[in-house]
Amino acid sequence: MAYDFDLYVIGAGSGGVRAARFSAGFGAKVAVAESRYLGGTCVNVGCVPKKLLVYGAHFAEDFEQASGFGWTLGEAQFDWPTLIANKDREINRLNGIYRNLLVNSGVTLHEGHAKIVDPHTVEINGERHTAKNILIATGGWPQIPEIPGHEHAISSNQAFFLKELPKRVLVVGGGYIAVEFAGIFHGLGAQTTLLYRGEMFLRGFDGSVRKHLQEELTKRGMDLQFNADIERIDKQADGSLKVTLKDGRQLEADCVFYATGRRPMLDNLGLENTAVKLDKKGFVEVDEQYQTAEPSILALGDVIGRVQLTPVALAEGMAIARRLFKPEQYRPVDYKMIPTAVFSLPNIGTVGLTEEEARDAGYEVQIFESRFRPMKLTLTECQERTLMKMVVDAKTDKVLGCHMVGPDAGEIIQGLAIALKAGATKRHFDETIGVHPTAAEEFVTMRTPVAR
Ligand code: FAD
Ligand code: NDP
Repeated sequence: MAYDFDLYVIGAGSGGVRAARFSAGFGAKVAVAESRYLGGTCVNVGCVPKKLLVYGAHFAEDFEQASGFGWTLGEAQFDWPTLIANKDREINRLNGIYRNLLVNSGVTLHEGHAKIVDPHTVEINGERHTAKNILIATGGWPQIPEIPGHEHAISSNQAFFLKELPKRVLVVGGGYIAVEFAGIFHGLGAQTTLLYRGEMFLRGFDGSVRKHLQEELTKRGMDLQFNADIERIDKQADGSLKVTLKDGRQLEADCVFYATGRRPMLDNLGLENTAVKLDKKGFVEVDEQYQTAEPSILALGDVIGRVQLTPVALAEGMAIARRLFKPEQYRPVDYKMIPTAVFSLPNIGTVGLTEEEARDAGYEVQIFESRFRPMKLTLTECQERTLMKMVVDAKTDKVLGCHMVGPDAGEIIQGLAIALKAGATKRHFDETIGVHPTAAEEFVTMRTPVAR
């Protein structure tokens, strides 16, 4: 049967755009549908605007530290609407770039909500289009638990467009988004409390990293409350919010921001018209080649709930394009050693196994750790300390994981990720000449294990 398209991609986010562009580049006839914003979550309400706000928040400490270097500044003033307007302008520019990328690579763009009506047909804006394969790349959506008063809370989707900076913010959650946005609000001058339901935030990160960040955020004056869970939120006559915790305590805030994970975006997608199955958590179930239970339908990125990171969605998009249209170049995505950063202030950068994971996996580990005051701070009052940690397999000398909390940790960890991917040993690190004076050189000068 002749189809209108070889591939119909639903969702022009990180993974969808990558799969569409490369498939078209390999000679396929491709369409992509987008209902909301070109570039998806990352460009519009994720990585990019978030990082711009983190940069904005960072200025607070730069101004504070400048006097140690002889600078006299007037009283620093911050204007939230200016930051948001400039951020919006940059995102508009990026939307345009994404449009050109798609159009110039020969992809047909359909703007509207796409619904699958049968395994080879998509309906959008009242028109039906057939395709040999359909790719679900619809991403995720913030998930707020339905406690009484949850309608008064916001998620990251709204945080990027607040009209003004709230004076008092309660951030709920202990994952990436909670920690990053707590840093943004705190840095920009809001009185910020982070509430996390467990003993210690950032579950899954190395224990030393979690503790070190807790100490650093506390030093900066952020109010961290662990073992704290909200029972209800009530709006008061003056517009402020009264938050009642499960232990009976009450807190007041002007904004309650939930960052409690993201669900797959499957709203009105028409999966009931297909054999596509969902996993236990509600994400689209795929095999190792991103094939769903419906032979003509594939899925990638946040909607499959594996690793919710842009570079992973990009890699999956590339793998799918190759598998379908350039099979001789197909390489599966390697989910091991995925480096990642949390853009908290200070940043976390991490790659490979945590100490806990390495021990649980039965490795005999050697731990190297270094804590120091960054050189830039020596002329200032700031007492912030950087943490660097390496987890090494004592038997093979292989470096299993590198972890850092400190300025530019994300930038530093990217290079180390290549070394770990290539199987670097501790000896390789030891024999590497440092770049002096940098913080990064500490990763090649740690000699004595702190634990075995
Ligand atoms: P998305 O980028 O979400 O794209 C899905 C697209 O599909 C959307 O544009 C949506 O509008 C569209 N769509 C949905 N349903 C339909 C439909 N029926 N019809 C038509 N279109 C539809 N990752 C990092 O690596 N680094 C970071 O620093 C980082 N920061 C983040 C910060 C925040 C606040 C958030 C929320 C996420 C962040 N992420 C980060 C995660 C990253 O944004 C996602 O992993 C990535 O965007 C997933 O890409 P995707 O292609 O799966 O989906
Ligand atoms: P995460 O899954 O990272 O964290 C969710 C947090 O919310 C956890 O601390 C979790 O606690 C807590 N939580 C979950 N449900 C509840 C509940 N009902 N009540 C109270 N707390 C709850 O999700 P995020 O929303 O922070 O981010 C989504 C994903 O986006 C991330 O996992 C990451 O993959 C990606 N992202 C990446 C970034 C980056 O690369 N820098 C930045 C931002 C997002 P517990 O641990 O106890 O389950």
